Amino acid sequence: MNINEILERLGLHAKNKGISTGTEWLSSSGKDSYESYSPVNGKLIGSVETATKNDYEKVILKAKETSLYWRKIPAPLRGALIREYGEVLRQYKDDLGALVSYEMGKSLQEGRGEAQEMIDICEFCTGLSRQLHGLTMHSERPEHRMYEQWHPLGVVGIISAFNFPVAVWAWNFTIATICGNTTIWKPSEKTPLTALACFNLLSKVLKKNKIPEGLCNLIIGSVENVGIPLVDDRRVDLVSATGSTRMGKIVATRVAARLGKSLLELGGNNALIVSEHANIKLAIPALVFGAVGTCGQRCTSTRRALIHETHFETVKNALLKAYKSLSIGSPLDEKNHVGPLIDKDAVNSMQEALKKIKQEGGEIIYGGEPLDNEGGCYVRPALVVLKKTIPMMKEETFVPILYLIPYSGSVEEAIQLQNDVDQGLSSALFSNNFIETETFLSHWGSDCGIANINIGTSGAEIGGAFGGEKDTGGGRESGSDAWKSYMRRQTNTLNFGDSLPLAQGVHFDL
Ligand code: NAD
Repeated sequence: MNINEILERLGLHAKNKGISTGTEWLSSSGKDSYESYSPVNGKLIGSVETATKNDYEKVILKAKETSLYWRKIPAPLRGALIREYGEVLRQYKDDLGALVSYEMGKSLQEGRGEAQEMIDICEFCTGLSRQLHGLTMHSERPEHRMYEQWHPLGVVGIISAFNFPVAVWAWNFTIATICGNTTIWKPSEKTPLTALACFNLLSKVLKKNKIPEGLCNLIIGSVENVGIPLVDDRRVDLVSATGSTRMGKIVATRVAARLGKSLLELGGNNALIVSEHANIKLAIPALVFGAVGTCGQRCTSTRRALIHETHFETVKNALLKAYKSLSIGSPLDEKNHVGPLIDKDAVNSMQEALKKIKQEGGEIIYGGEPLDNEGGCYVRPALVVLKKTIPMMKEETFVPILYLIPYSGSVEEAIQLQNDVDQGLSSALFSNNFIETETFLSHWGSDCGIANINIGTSGAEIGGAFGGEKDTGGGRESGSDAWKSYMRRQTNTLNFGDSLPLAQGVHFDL
């Protein structure tokens, strides 16, 4: 694979502008830039100019102005634009997937999968653009009709995390756009080039359709110059933020202070329960992929395996065997199972986490050490046996550390253990027992936004609403009726009679 050819086909250079109004790239009014180094081999991929607060101001003005135009375009025509973007993405899927892999470090398969997710959401949104429907209700007043409609919000700000550098933006941007909004994207400072590539492809479609500047905007910049101004700006009608719980608490508080709307997709601490009635053959690969896929850097990564004591030794030994056979190295080589962490800081934070886990009584039975291959940020995924609850187990480490925790009672004990953390994103139960699976899915079962049976915790489909409860932030993105967060609801009552009856039988006779 020739990465330089891929960069060229995606319109990327050694030095790049980092502000786009969709159809135009703008120069920064400042002097700073980000350099993006690949976690795969430590090499510089390219640099990107970063925006100043003044640049942010230019972009929000364009986004606001164009929102007045875009909201009048019929929704199915907005959907047709997104369909065209999906077609362009299809042509560039392999290139974009490879760049995701090279800049973020996930496997080539997963990089391509992320590009596929973008294509899928474009298709979903094409159909959805004809289905932004409200309900009709019966009025209590004679000769009256009551119904509700969904209208665009205006400008949607999108803050995204490094680990899904393109798909999360695509979920937000496609839905926000068909709902009649303009968008401003602030991607992670760790993955700016994939964002630029998405916009180079998008600008082809926008120009062809003569879309004015400001429909879809991108700003590469710091939290101080772009993140906080966007969050505090009353002109931004919805802030959709994906990232750590730490970030979400700051964003939620600041947006609430101006009574704005936020949609939060934050950290997870996901458990997979292996019950005494589990099919172990299914559970083992689900555990391994869930824990080491994307090198443990998915919000839905499996962090805790709650294993019934009858299977504990069997599962532990099977995991040890599987972990020993993992091949760790460049994610661009399809033979490798595990790629690098995002950067050296993440490698160090894994070492710190393991030190604390040991101090708190965890037994590291395999892996954890940094690997100095290929100049990248590689680590050996770790397995830790926990015989008691420790404080570290309640934190999201965001590295490939899997806790193996035995339980001895009913599935309700395991569910209680699972729910006993602050986060509530994804959960899974492996069991072929109907009472256990129904208990897990009942309202006294899993408290997470995602609850799976005989499927691991990671790897959701775009058709479902994605997100979680508690410290995960409560937001829902992607499929189902998640689009409602990107619109405002209006209730309409029409009187087609010749009297003016009041609701609740109230009389006001003149
Ligand atoms: P992060 O919180 O460090 O950064 C995420 C984004 O927020 C970046 O663009 C960053 O610049 C921005 N940001 C940080 N502080 C900000 C502030 N005060 N104001 C405005 N913007 C701010 O997260 P990360 O390390 O990039 O990603 C990993 C985290 O994201 C994990 O916790 C993971 O679970 C979570 N995540 C959640 C989901 C989900 O859907 N629930 C999806 C992907 C990642």
